[in-house]
Amino acid sequence: MAANIIDGKAFAAKVRGQVAEHVARLKEVHGITPGLAVVLVGEDPASQVYVRSKGKQTVEVGMNSYEHKLDAETSEADLLALIDQLNNDPAVHGILVQLPLPKHLDEDLVINSIAPAKDVDGFHISNVGLLGTGQKSMVPCTPLGCLMMLRDYHGSLSGMDAVVIGRSNIVGKPMAQLLLGDSCTVTIAHSRTKDLPDVVRRADIVVAAVGRPEMVPGDWIKEGATVIDVGINRIERDGKNVLVGDVDFASAAARAGAITPVPGGVGPMTIACLLANTVTACCRANGLAEPEGLTA
Ligand code: NDP
Repeated sequence: MAANIIDGKAFAAKVRGQVAEHVARLKEVHGITPGLAVVLVGEDPASQVYVRSKGKQTVEVGMNSYEHKLDAETSEADLLALIDQLNNDPAVHGILVQLPLPKHLDEDLVINSIAPAKDVDGFHISNVGLLGTGQKSMVPCTPLGCLMMLRDYHGSLSGMDAVVIGRSNIVGKPMAQLLLGDSCTVTIAHSRTKDLPDVVRRADIVVAAVGRPEMVPGDWIKEGATVIDVGINRIERDGKNVLVGDVDFASAAARAGAITPVPGGVGPMTIACLLANTVTACCRANGLAEPEGLTA
């Protein structure tokens, strides 16, 4: 059986279209333009690419983009002062500090200085707590994108067995919380999990967020399962640099019912969900109804 390919690129384009419609309505009816501020400290090349892409897509959906590029030597006090200024700026509805930060800056301190209502990455400890207790929160973008694709494909996820491989704060743990929120029976696997193949073989839904190229082979996948591959790994193959996921796509696609490719699966959904979170934050800040289908 050949798996259905879940096209994250097309899905992300649809989400961006919905965001753009909401933005247009906010402008027309309420005279409000959502604004996203992105703060980049230093010159990490991958971070620069992400920040450029976020800024471009923010403008494309009609929102204001405010980019703050700071020197790699920026002091913690100066960075916190900028965040304080953005927290108090009514034109800014979402704030994202691009990670990783240079070593001399305390990431937890910086993230927790963002006003929770503007924390569109969903990493602030208040949002983590709200998500964990099933309350309205800002939801981390990558797991939110995975959830949207799963809901779109399956409708209800209730009662399904889900395995999340990886327990990071930015992907694994929030993903597990979201699946639990949708009434899946959730297992979180990690590097100390005993007999990972057996754990994965029981799952109707497998979310792989490990960071190890093609670690999950097809024979771990239950026939007909849905596989969401979060991994982005750059490897050399046949003399070329290629991107692969944490799942061995060819063998997994031969057993799965549905699978996300890498590239073109989860990746494009992450920025689309950042835009969705910004419009949601803007609506909440102004006491307006939130866009449907763009939040958990
Ligand atoms: P982390 O390195 O923070 O976490 C990796 C997790 O995988 C850890 O919990 C670790 O377990 C677990 N792990 C490592 N080796 C094994 C193993 N052999 N068996 C089982 N579990 C293992 O990574 P992230 O969560 O930040 O990212 C995961 C992947 O997702 C990366 O490839 C990253 O590039 C990608 N990513 C993609 C995004 C997108 O937009 N598509 C966004 C964010 C990340 P332990 O805790 O025990 O060490």
